[in-house]
Amino acid sequence: MLLHLGAVKGGLGALMLRRVCLLSRHAHSYSQSVEHQPIKKVMVANRGEIAIRVFRACTELGIRTVAVYSEQDTGQMHRQKADEAYLIGKGLPPVSAYLHIPDIIRVAKENNVDAIHPGYGFLSERSDFAQACADAGVRFIGPSPEVVRKMGDKVEARALAIQAGVPVVPGTDGPITSLKEAEDFAKTYDFPIIFKAAYGGGGRGMRVVRNYEELEENYNRAYSEALAAFGNGALFVEKFIDKPRHIEVQILGDKYGNVIHLYERDCSIQRRHQKVVEIAPAAHLDPHLRDRLTKDSVNLAKQVGYENAGTVEFLVDKNGKHYFIEVNSRLQVEHTVTEEITDVDLVHAQLRICEGRSLPELGLKQDKIRINGSAIQCRVTTEDPARGFQPDTGRLEVFRSGEGMGIRLDSASAFQGALISPHYDSLLVKVISSGKDLPTAATKMNRALAEFRIRGVKTNIPFLQNVLSNHQFLYGTVDTQFIDENADLFHLKPVQNRAQKLLHYLGHLMVNGPATPIPVKAKPSDTDPVIPTVPIGEPPLGFRDVLLKEGPEGFARAVRQHKGLLLMDTTFRDAHQSLLATRVRTHDLKKIAPFVAHNFNNLFSLENWGGDLHK
Ligand code: ADP
Ligand code: ADP
Ligand code: MG
Repeated sequence: MLLHLGAVKGGLGALMLRRVCLLSRHAHSYSQSVEHQPIKKVMVANRGEIAIRVFRACTELGIRTVAVYSEQDTGQMHRQKADEAYLIGKGLPPVSAYLHIPDIIRVAKENNVDAIHPGYGFLSERSDFAQACADAGVRFIGPSPEVVRKMGDKVEARALAIQAGVPVVPGTDGPITSLKEAEDFAKTYDFPIIFKAAYGGGGRGMRVVRNYEELEENYNRAYSEALAAFGNGALFVEKFIDKPRHIEVQILGDKYGNVIHLYERDCSIQRRHQKVVEIAPAAHLDPHLRDRLTKDSVNLAKQVGYENAGTVEFLVDKNGKHYFIEVNSRLQVEHTVTEEITDVDLVHAQLRICEGRSLPELGLKQDKIRINGSAIQCRVTTEDPARGFQPDTGRLEVFRSGEGMGIRLDSASAFQGALISPHYDSLLVKVISSGKDLPTAATKMNRALAEFRIRGVKTNIPFLQNVLSNHQFLYGTVDTQFIDENADLFHLKPVQNRAQKLLHYLGHLMVNGPATPIPVKAKPSDTDPVIPTVPIGEPPLGFRDVLLKEGPEGFARAVRQHKGLLLMDTTFRDAHQSLLATRVRTHDLKKIAPFVAHNFNNLFSLENWGGDLHK
């Protein structure tokens, strides 16, 4: 059951203050003046599965959808799943197109878009984009530009968490500007420590330092990585928590200061600080700890005036102590598992909140939000786990997915014939399973992954299957070092690809003939073909002559008088019509015809040229 988020009715017309809030440059001050302003047309400034996820929600709510796509994405499915689609960033490299704020705003204005959903990644956490939308009178489906800015700066977010009484990992109060500051920090808190990019994300720009000798090199590397990836090399230092769980809380806030949480997700299964498998709710979580995590998240969100959907991320150490790490002020890749266990459609909620509806009005009250069963999400990527998860590219020769009860698939261009390009991230399909508890959801996931047949590009499915059947994953708890510490996860069952090999063999045989030694060695030149000669003179008479000379009655008489079987030959027709490559042309049939006329004159009829033309 979905919670009903209140259908928009048209009768608000007279009351509607069109875009009043957005004409104000002080986006955060508009909350009191807003009436419901139905959104009629949404643009998603993103691509792939998340664009489609949002289009689907819009379509369900009767909202028209607009896609934007880069030149490299002309053949992508998100273009087709929207009511309208427009090219952006002409002549730009693939990623830059989706970061081209002026072009995106231009397309929005030209096509009467009234709200923009940023998805995740790309511009989703850029306050200058949220501001550009506001300035253009287009609603940004997310928090105010000011909140996006504060949350995007990890150092500032930390400071706000401290103000809200939320525990944080011991760390520097601000960005560090010298190696000396890092040294001082390590002296006070001891190793290991972690360098983090102040404006980082997606697990990039982080470096763990385990002893003094590694300090300088890692400082320099982290700085240049952050500079290259985020355009700003600012770093801060945190104590590195040993083998923590990554647990994050989903929150929703409206324009009126109401904030609720939708419980937590466990995203501890990570590779290089990037999530691979996510589950909700977290397994074996102490209810008191759950309380603290959710309360802290709601308090922090209230403190900053958080509006729309967001996630508060924590690390939980081995003693069950939790530490805030960051806020993601957008919809996350793993939002799906929360939807599965709470029956709340987060994108519907985002749209309604943006229209100015309050959480209670949407039926989203804290005491109504319940955890129902368990859900797991696997990110199926076109990466080869046998080669250090190198992205693989090419054409999907075969694509069949695992479906059935308890399985949800969120994908974009996952179909036979799709081209997997190297331009964007390698997420192919999100497989989400749900069941009454974690082992049930895991069974469904395992079954679904086994059903997938993806050929032409490598995927991480064999690796995911190993994770999903791991005893610790199924019955215990895992921490963020789980993948690094379990080498057996990399013992991959090779895909034999038998069906494809057989098909290739048959295709090759049909087109090129046999390649095996015995038939190949029998040289055609060793056999002397028999070339029939055509006798001189007119061919002997046959049944056709009877028909021509004596008419139908005479013909019928001749048939009745004939002793023995009469034959019709269909060789000409078969040779002419054959679907094989050896089709015989009319030109050649005509050359054979005289021999047939001389030697098979006693045939009743001949079928020719692929139809019912009896000769
Ligand atoms: P991002 O912006 O890339 O998501 P986060 O700060 O959320 O960065 O950290 C991502 C992951 O990196 C965490 O889930 C965790 O595995 C690891 N990590 C981050 N900070 C620490 C820390 N202080 N101690 C241990 N692991 C950490
Ligand atoms: P490969 O040749 O790479 O091993 P196949 O497509 O031939 O892959 O399938 C291998 C085996 O998987 C089959 O022999 C069958 O036992 C099993 N199998 C086939 N289809 C399914 C399915 N839909 N779900 C689960 N197992 C399947
Ligand atoms: Mg994070």
